[in-house]
Amino acid sequence: MTEISKELEEKLFNKAEEMMKRSYIPYSGFAVGAALLAKNGTIYTGCNVENAAFTPTNCAERTAFFKAVSEGVTEFDAIAILGGKDRKVSDLCTPCGVCRQVMAEFCKPSDFLVLMRDGQGAVKKQLLSDLLPESFGPGNLL
Ligand SMILES: [Zn+2]
Repeated sequence: MTEISKELEEKLFNKAEEMMKRSYIPYSGFAVGAALLAKNGTIYTGCNVENAAFTPTNCAERTAFFKAVSEGVTEFDAIAILGGKDRKVSDLCTPCGVCRQVMAEFCKPSDFLVLMRDGQGAVKKQLLSDLLPESFGPGNLL
């Protein structure tokens, strides 16, 4: 998917914002919510989940992907991401490198849309291929 309707975009951002309330963030105080749109139309949500040992921490984007994959869904069109301190959306929240790699596992980089919105409502839409150029993916192992 390289384009998305304004209505669907709003629905995804609303769900992502809801997820920021569920973020488990006792250490950073930085909440992130994500809403992942599967090709079958289902939306899978995720929040970030921190851990006292830090490395087991999971990002909102990967939470959403792993929820979907655990339910047998592996094809996706887009993801909306929001984040900020004190559970308030601030600057654009871009996905970390690990999440970009997970996206590349399941999505064709030139056909997967990443939507981000800042606290003033400015939306940025990027293809995964722009966020993770020359990525290593399943095709490299064939
Ligand atoms: Zn991440």
